[in-house]
Amino acid sequence: MTNNKVIRLPSSGNGNDLGRKTLLIPEMNQTGAHLLAATFRSFGMRARVMDTYKGLDLGKEYTYGKECYPCQVTMGDILHFIEKEREDLGDSFNPRDYIYFMPEAEGPCRFGMYNKYQRMVLDSFPGLKELQIMSPTNSDAYSLGDILEEHQEQDFRKTAYFSMVVADILDRLLWKTRPYEKEPGMADAFIKRSRRSMADTFEIYGRKKGFQKIMEKLEEIVRESRSIVDPTIPPKPLVGIVGEIYLRMHEHANQEVIRVLEKHGAEVV
Ligand code: SF4
Repeated sequence: MTNNKVIRLPSSGNGNDLGRKTLLIPEMNQTGAHLLAATFRSFGMRARVMDTYKGLDLGKEYTYGKECYPCQVTMGDILHFIEKEREDLGDSFNPRDYIYFMPEAEGPCRFGMYNKYQRMVLDSFPGLKELQIMSPTNSDAYSLGDILEEHQEQDFRKTAYFSMVVADILDRLLWKTRPYEKEPGMADAFIKRSRRSMADTFEIYGRKKGFQKIMEKLEEIVRESRSIVDPTIPPKPLVGIVGEIYLRMHEHANQEVIRVLEKHGAEVV
């Protein structure tokens, strides 16, 4: 879809001044969002992950209730971000300084409609027409060709994909260690630290395709994780969680179903 409401990708050649804009990434999976933001930063773009679930009331206020829940949550995330940023920056707040990252996909899933609906909502606020939405699409394999050089685009794709794989591994590491942690809270604190150091690693080595360095960091984290596990705790029943990706991965949206299962003696896989 091409219209003047949804900007699929900001073009580097039309005065968008990409380097001065901040790319706003909504959180689905915590680790994934942070590693993706780090990957963008590695390629020279300012990118940050927005707080999530703090603007749910706003998300519900500006949707009808028939949309997919992730659409309501992310609507709230961007509106909450703007509200906070306006409070913090006052008159210096400029919607042109931001790009909201909301990809799309074709097909029966309504995900492809999020950016269009959210564009309409943003446009209904004074000045927010200037806040662009970046919507890479599956129809061209999520190309970022308009903002990256050809050789960089391929590298970005590889690194972004790798960041998702590493994020999945870190999630599994949390699920594998938390039910067996020596003391409550150890696994969460460990993964939080590891997520930060892994994001730093992606930021430094992502653009250089330093996958070996990233693998070494991952191996170090996995080795360290053994120290928080109590080997005397017997194996617990394994429970697989399936379903819609956003709700499966977003811990507030799924009412922390993984922790609930763990409290009842399960190990989630
Ligand atoms: S998969 Fe997600 S985005 Fe797609 S229709 Fe279902 S809830 Fe909506």
